[in-house]
Amino acid sequence: MYSEQFQKSLKAVEAARDANTVLEPRRMTADEKDALLAKYHPDYKKEEFENLLIGPNKGEPVPKELAAVLQAHSKIKAGDVDLNAPDYDVDVLIIGGGGAGCSAAIEADEAGAKVMIATKLRMGDANTMMAEGGIQAADKENDSPAIHFVDAYGGGHFAAKKELLKKLVCDAPDCIQWLNDLGVEFDKDENGTMITTHGGGTSRKRMHAAKDYSGAEIMRTLRDEVLNREIPVIDFTAALEIILDDKGNAAGAVLMNLETGELYVAKAKTVILATGGAGRMHY
Ligand SMILES: Cc1cc2nc3c(=O)[nH]c(=O)nc-3n(C[C@H](O)[C@H](O)[C@H](O)COP(=O)(O)OP(=O)(O)OC[C@H]3O[C@@H](n4cnc5c(N)ncnc54)[C@H](O)[C@@H]3O)c2cc1C
Repeated sequence: MYSEQFQKSLKAVEAARDANTVLEPRRMTADEKDALLAKYHPDYKKEEFENLLIGPNKGEPVPKELAAVLQAHSKIKAGDVDLNAPDYDVDVLIIGGGGAGCSAAIEADEAGAKVMIATKLRMGDANTMMAEGGIQAADKENDSPAIHFVDAYGGGHFAAKKELLKKLVCDAPDCIQWLNDLGVEFDKDENGTMITTHGGGTSRKRMHAAKDYSGAEIMRTLRDEVLNREIPVIDFTAALEIILDDKGNAAGAVLMNLETGELYVAKAKTVILATGGAGRMHY
């Protein structure tokens, strides 16, 4: 049974339906959009941000909640673990079992390295699984990484780090091919040519999708490949701290089994952080 307040709201929607159906909303001007964002969007509220005091991003403004997490005291003390008796000793430790982590694991394994993945939930319990629209890559004749760059740079209000964006647009065609070769069932026409469509802000059709479950299809393929290669995956285990060597380089991580609370030391020559983004919803 809906609450009285909700029923009132439903009635208001019903009463306005006929008028709203024929309504053609006017497009807002750029200034109107900016004013709306400034009033309501949390990223536009300067008082919700503070500059980081430590770490590689020192000086950069981040939401206060993120600053509190990044600058908090560690959950563990030095005496809780013995760094001289590692539980795992590998060439490459990958933290995070989403699309990026699994791809890195496959490539490192391909190169002959001893690899392991530690991930907070299960492999594939990740944002990658939920992506649906598709991935952009400039791989058609009327397109190029340079045009992709211009679209994405403008679409991102010129805030992107240019060297990262350059890498993204230049690598994208090869990445699509790599996923395709692994077995991702991208949408194709009857000749086997990839179908590409428009995405937000694209001046060319460069979106590659697998129906409306692109991320799930990519994750299915990557997970299969990790399993087929018998790459060890430590599930339900979160990295709490990165261990540094005497030169300050990453040399492993302290991991926690989230079911038992046990701590493990993983020693590694290379650590790859593939833990995804930091969504405001989670703060
Ligand atoms: C609903 C939705 C729709 C989307 N649609 C699209 C789309 O159409 N096209 C597109 O290009 N992008 C889309 N995205 C964005 C895209 O899915 C992500 O950018 C991408 O999947 C990120 O991949 P990742 O491997 O870096 O991170 P994730 O897939 O998030 O994987 C991170 C992994 O790290 C693990 N982890 C986190 N912290 C720790 C820790 N401390 N220790 C151990 N493990 C940890 C997590 O559990 C997770 O398994 C969408 C995202 C969402 C949520």
